[in-house]
Amino acid sequence: MDAAGRRAAVAELGHPAYRADQLSRHYFGRLTESAHEMTDLPASAREELVAALLPPLLTAEKELTCDRGMTCKTLWRAADGAFVESVLMRYPGRVTMCVSSQAGCGMGCPFCATGQAGLTRNLSTAEIVSQVLNGARSLARAQMAGGPGRVSNIVFMGMGEPLANYASVLGAVRRLSDPVPDGLGISQRAITVSTVGLVPAIRRLTGEGLTCRLAVSLHAPDDELRDTLVPVNRRWKVAEVLDAAWDYAAATGRRVSIEYAMIRDINDQRWRADALARLLSGRLAHVNLIPLNPTPGSKWTASDPDVAEAFQRCLADHGIPVTVRDTRGREIDGACGQLAAASRQT
Ligand code: SAH
Ligand code: SF4
Repeated sequence: MDAAGRRAAVAELGHPAYRADQLSRHYFGRLTESAHEMTDLPASAREELVAALLPPLLTAEKELTCDRGMTCKTLWRAADGAFVESVLMRYPGRVTMCVSSQAGCGMGCPFCATGQAGLTRNLSTAEIVSQVLNGARSLARAQMAGGPGRVSNIVFMGMGEPLANYASVLGAVRRLSDPVPDGLGISQRAITVSTVGLVPAIRRLTGEGLTCRLAVSLHAPDDELRDTLVPVNRRWKVAEVLDAAWDYAAATGRRVSIEYAMIRDINDQRWRADALARLLSGRLAHVNLIPLNPTPGSKWTASDPDVAEAFQRCLADHGIPVTVRDTRGREIDGACGQLAAASRQT
C-alpha cells in the first residue's frame, strides 16, 4: 500500500491513522516487522496491527554465499509454497540487489532456467518489496561479510518478466523509492527494470514519469535469431523494441542498457557485432555483454573469451559504450531460476 492506503487500512481496523506512519517507520526505517520491537505502539495494538498489516510473506528456504561472502543468494518460499530468488552483491562503494518479479516466467527464453520452468504466478508489490527489505535488514545488521551496509541499487533481473507484472512492479518501484517512512528511500536512478521487450508495457512505463533505468534483453540484432532466443520477438520485432527503448531514453534522459548474453557460435559472430553497432549507433545506449551461464542440460555454452573480447572490441571501435558483466555466484547456481528449479525437483 502507499502511505494513504496504509492510513485508511489502520483507520478501518479502528486505530488512529497516525499509527500507520509509526508502522511504516518501523518497517521501512528500522527494517523491523516484529511487534515486540515497536515499543512506541500500545502493547494491545501492536500484535493486532502487525498481524493485519505485516503478515509474513517470504521465508528463507536456503541461503548460499560465495565470492568471500560478497555475494549472497536467497531462495524464498512464499506463503503458498511458490519459490523465488534474490541475490545481494557487494561491491566497493555499492550494494546491488537483484530481485524477482514473478515466480517463474512465461516468456520461454530457451537459455534461461526460469523460462524453462514456466510461470507459476505474479508476485505482489509487497512480495517484491519484502525481498529488498530482507536484504536491507541483513546488511544493516551486518549479517553479510563486509560490515554494516545498505542496499544502494536494485535490478529487476531475478526470476520473471517485470513488465508482465506491471502494476505490482510499478508499485514496488514507488515503494522502494518513496522516502522513508513512506518507502525505502532508494533513488529511482539506482533502480533498473529489465525487460525481454514487451513494447506496449515499455511505452506505458515511459509515461509514468520515473527516472529508473531500462534494460532491454536483446541478445541478437536480427529478428531471425532473436525469434528463437527470445520467443516474444515473434510478436514485437527488434526494431519496434528498440524504438520503444529510445523513446524511454528520450523521456527519462537515461541511457538504456542493452543486455546481450554471449552464446558460443550462436550470437557472437563478428557480423552480428557490426549489425548491433549499426542499430545502436548515435543512441543513448550502453551494451552489457553477459557470458552465458549454462543451465543444466543446456546445449549452449558461453562464448570463448577471445571471441567475446573481439565482439566487445568491435562494438567499442564503432563508438558504442560496452562493458562485460561481472558474473557473480556461478557456483551457487547464480543464474536466476536454477535454485528454485532444484528445489522443486527435490
Ligand atoms: N525477464 C527479464 C528480467 C529477468 S532475466 C529479462 O529477460 O530481461 C535478467 C537477465 O538475465 C536478462 O537479460 C536475461 O536474458 C539474462 N539471462 C537469463 N538466463 C541467463 C543465462 N543462463 N545466462 C546469462 N544471462 C541470462
Ligand atoms: Fe523470462 Fe527473462 Fe528468463 Fe526470458 S530471460 S524466460 S523473459 S526471466
